[in-house]
Amino acid sequence: MSLWSNAMVALRRLGLEAPALKAGSVIERTRTFLSTGEVFGSVDFAALGEKAGAASICLHPAALQQLLLDATRAGDPQSVQIGRECIGFAENTAEVCARFSDGSSERGDVLIGADGITPSSAANSSAWKDLASQGISHGAALLKE
Ligand SMILES: Cc1cc2nc3c(=O)[nH]c(=O)nc-3n(C[C@H](O)[C@H](O)[C@H](O)COP(=O)(O)OP(=O)(O)OC[C@H]3O[C@@H](n4cnc5c(N)ncnc54)[C@H](O)[C@@H]3O)c2cc1C
Repeated sequence: MSLWSNAMVALRRLGLEAPALKAGSVIERTRTFLSTGEVFGSVDFAALGEKAGAASICLHPAALQQLLLDATRAGDPQSVQIGRECIGFAENTAEVCARFSDGSSERGDVLIGADGITPSSAANSSAWKDLASQGISHGAALLKE
């Protein structure tokens, strides 16, 4: 996958720009060709990078995920748990409680749904539909004061 300068600036803020550069390769220039072999267009990524203050790179998505996972777990080994499907949530004025398909639940101050664009079971939950009925749709962010 490609990470453009803006993504690299975000990784810099997380202290992950250098390891991302090491795991990937810098994009100097891209060229798009027509089926005739004629050049359709080109982008000078080196110049863009200079202007934006960060290079653009290509790296394997698994390498990026591993970087993010290692960095997150370095702060708290329990911070990322996989294999748990969120099937819904409930909230009151004090807290929000996420429910999982294995019968477990987790409570916290804020619940951030980062379940991608594929419709998920959590997005089909009645609590999410309640939000949708308030005009807050899947993919949007909700932060209450
Ligand atoms: C073919 C392709 C090529 C792309 N190339 C690039 C590129 O070169 N550069 C770039 O910057 N972007 C690229 N993108 C876009 C990039 O992949 C997405 O923007 C990014 O993955 C979105 O991240 P996300 O964390 O929001 O969602 P996702 O990566 O979709 O992650 C969502 C996660 O939530 C999990 N999940 C879903 N429902 C539940 C649930 N109920 N309970 C628990 N977990 C759940 C899913 O299993 C998944 O692991 C590409 C996308 C595609 C499809």
